[in-house]
Amino acid sequence: MTPLLSAIVPVYNEADGLPLLYERLSAALDAAVALLENAASQEPEPDRWEILLVDDGSRDASWQGIVGLTARDRRVKGIRFARNFGKEAAMAAGLHAARGQAVVILDADLQHPPELIPQMVALWQQGAQVVTAVRTDRETDPLWRRSLTRLFYRLYQAISEVALTPGGGDFRLLDRRVVAALNALPERKRFLKGLANWVGFTHQTLPFRPAARHAGRSAWSLRKLWRYAIDGLVSFTTLPLHIWSSIGAFVALLSGSYGLYLIVRTLVFGRDVPGYASIMVAILFLSGVQLISLGVLGEYLGRVFEEVKRRPLYLVGEVANLPDPGVAPSA
Ligand code: UDP
Ligand code: MG
Repeated sequence: MTPLLSAIVPVYNEADGLPLLYERLSAALDAAVALLENAASQEPEPDRWEILLVDDGSRDASWQGIVGLTARDRRVKGIRFARNFGKEAAMAAGLHAARGQAVVILDADLQHPPELIPQMVALWQQGAQVVTAVRTDRETDPLWRRSLTRLFYRLYQAISEVALTPGGGDFRLLDRRVVAALNALPERKRFLKGLANWVGFTHQTLPFRPAARHAGRSAWSLRKLWRYAIDGLVSFTTLPLHIWSSIGAFVALLSGSYGLYLIVRTLVFGRDVPGYASIMVAILFLSGVQLISLGVLGEYLGRVFEEVKRRPLYLVGEVANLPDPGVAPSA
C-alpha cells in the first residue's frame, strides 16, 4: 500500500529530540490523514503515512534512536549516510525514497511544529502543489545570524533570477509532481529553497512561529552558512560573472580619459614628477578588483568541476525498513 503522506526529516546529532519528534509528528500525520480520508469518505486504511528519518552521518546515538523507532513502528523508515553530506543531500535522499502523494520536509529539532502539517495538507487538498511555511519572526536565531540572513536575502533578491519565498525555510509540503520534477534534476549541488520556486507549480504559504530548539544545538556554524549562501547564489544567478565586463569597461573608460588628460597635460605644461600616490592607489585598487573577479570565476569553475565529476550526491551506509540500495550509489 503506497502511503498518502511522507514526512522527510534530516537528522544530524539529534538523538535527544527523536522520541518527542516521533510522538508529535505521528500524531500530526494521523490528523492530516484523517482529514483527507474523511473528505474522500473512505475506510481509514493502515500505513497511510510514512516518516523518513535521514541520518546525515550523526556522531551521536541518532542512528540507534532511528533504528529503535523503525522497530517499533514500520511506518518509520531510516536511511543512514556513510558520512555527513549536509542537509541538502539528506533532503534529496528523502525525496528519492519518499513514496507519498504529498511530501512534507521538516527539521528534526521541532523548530518546525508538526502540528502545522494538517493545515498544509488542507491547502494541498485545495490544489496547492507547493506549500511553504513562512516564519513570522526569527527570534529564535541569534542576532548576528538574523542580520546576516537579512543581508543575504536582500542581495539574493536583487541579483537572482529566481525569487525565494520571503521568510520561507525548508519546512514545506510538495506534491508528488513537484517531487518527481525535483528528483529529475541532474545537478549535484542543491539549494532546495530556490529549486522549489524554480520548478514553478501552484504555490501557497502558511505563516508560523518557529519554536526554540527542542534539544541539542544548531549545526550551522558561520563557515557552513557562508558556504550555503555562496552555493545558493551561484546556483541561481550568473550575474556575478557578467558584472565584470561592465566594471572592466567602466574602469577602461576611466583610465583612458585619465591617460588622455596626462598626455595633454605633459604636452602643455611639460614633464613633472610622477605621482606616487595615484600609481599606488591605481595598482592596489585594480589588483583588488582583479582578485575578486578571479574569485568569482573560481566559484563558478569549482561548481562546474563538482558537476562534471558526477560524484553521487550522497552515499547510503545503512537503511532500516527500506529496501537496501545495495552497493550502487543511489543518486
Ligand atoms: N542537518 C543535517 N545535516 C547537517 C546540518 C543539519 O541534516 O549537516 C539537519 C538538522 O538535524 C536539522 C536541520 O538540518 O534537522 C536544521 O538544522 P539546525 O537546527 O542545526 O539548523 P537551524 O535550525 O539552526 O537553521
Ligand atoms: Mg533548528
